[in-house]
Amino acid sequence: MSRQIKKILVANRGEITLRIMRTIREMGRQSVAIYSDVDIAMPFVRYADEAYSLEGKEARETYLDIPKIISIARKAKVDAIHPGYGFLSENSEFAREVGKAGIIFIGPRADVIKSMGDKTEARKLVSGYGVPVVPGTPNSIDDLREAKEAARKIGYPILVKAAAGGGGKGMRLVKEESELESSLRGAQSEALSAFGDNRIFIEKYIVNPRHIEFQILADNYGNVVHLFERECSIQRRHQKVVEETPSMALTPELREEMGDAAINAAKACGYSNAGTVEFILGEDGKYYFLEMNTRLQVEHPITEATTGIDIVRKQIKIAEGNKLDFSQKEITRRGHSIESRIYAEDVFNGFLPDTGTLKMLREPVGNGVRVDSGVESGSEISVYYDSMIAKLSVWDTSREHAIKKMLRALDEYVIVGVKTTIPFCKFVLESDDFRGGKYSTHFVEKHWNAEGLKINNFANDGLDAAVIVAASRLKKKSNKQNSTERSEKIKSNWRDGRFES
Ligand code: ADP
Repeated sequence: MSRQIKKILVANRGEITLRIMRTIREMGRQSVAIYSDVDIAMPFVRYADEAYSLEGKEARETYLDIPKIISIARKAKVDAIHPGYGFLSENSEFAREVGKAGIIFIGPRADVIKSMGDKTEARKLVSGYGVPVVPGTPNSIDDLREAKEAARKIGYPILVKAAAGGGGKGMRLVKEESELESSLRGAQSEALSAFGDNRIFIEKYIVNPRHIEFQILADNYGNVVHLFERECSIQRRHQKVVEETPSMALTPELREEMGDAAINAAKACGYSNAGTVEFILGEDGKYYFLEMNTRLQVEHPITEATTGIDIVRKQIKIAEGNKLDFSQKEITRRGHSIESRIYAEDVFNGFLPDTGTLKMLREPVGNGVRVDSGVESGSEISVYYDSMIAKLSVWDTSREHAIKKMLRALDEYVIVGVKTTIPFCKFVLESDDFRGGKYSTHFVEKHWNAEGLKINNFANDGLDAAVIVAASRLKKKSNKQNSTERSEKIKSNWRDGRFES
């Protein structure tokens, strides 16, 4: 059964909304944006064919308000809703309500979202299909005595994890039994406030692991393929910052085995649409299923760059009821792609999120450079939503060339007004461990905290690049002033926020 989708509401904001709407436009369909009061002037609102106000600022009264969003979808007479990532993208109630309103949800079925959203249930489902899971407790644990027994059996160090977890929340590392009680209770209360669900389970902590995930596509007729892996081991707070594909950690045999396991995980839950199966890979080469993300992933552009497949286009086609039009054998991969996430963060101060106005923004361009951005000069990085500014991804024929291209593009980036993750990304790309392909999820503790923090952090507010631009403009006006003096004056003006010349 297929049904053409003519008009799509994107229930999200920022870069991902723009990215989805671009494909909608290329496919000759209509896009509808929804926006909070804070976002009224954002580029994604102007880009949409139609835009509706959500009337409010906080996420819970805007991008998380299911009845409000469905009522706008009805008013705008859309055929489908794309949830993007974050917000309601993995909320099974939202998917169900969208369906009830007679609108197509661009994603898997509500019951699939629900079962894969519960880490303990997902572990059970996929292990039934022969997919290895991290050794751990099959069910959630509340009783301390029971937890102690389970942890002893698994062997320390262990992780206590929220069953409903996401974004690294409700996760605690426990090195020895004496820490177990406080970590268990701490994780429970964090999980309760973040997800309204305090169920906790215990998992073996894999030392020096790598995070490897497989992008999958599945149609509504049981056909499942994977689009190879992405390595996402460069993380802070258990969250990704730099990703690449192919991964240096996989041999062709391991890649094939893990790809098959990813397909089996998708089959285990009757998956349809685009999804990601996440694995953790130990130093011993053993891999284990971590979780499945039932949505479009932030880092999907590097898969698009290397396979040539527009994942959003496939999502729409699958949602319309089309069969996958290629088999696993027909999917090929070319070259190497890397993504750097550009967040407003103070990398020299515990990666603390930063906020402020982007006084100046100039994005890198050129062959093989892609910027997924939702902002422009003058945009505000506010306290209301996450602090991502953009995603910078590059493609080149080899890993070595891709690394050089990424460094070139990071150098060209000018962002004035907020601190960004650019200095951290440069540090990663220049480090011997990254270049040698020998890195793990402990990169930040091992390298950044030890050496990175020592580098000059003056460049972190984009001042140097801005000074070059401003100075060349000023030069035309007056050649009398000594250039050092002039540059110092501009720097101090920028810092004080009174740049008028
Ligand atoms: P979330 O859903 O909160 O993002 P995940 O289960 O996806 O949590 O894990 C996020 C990150 O935490 C992983 O990429 C990895 O760095 C780390 N992690 C999770 N489980 C383990 C484990 N068993 N051993 C070691 N590190 C882990």
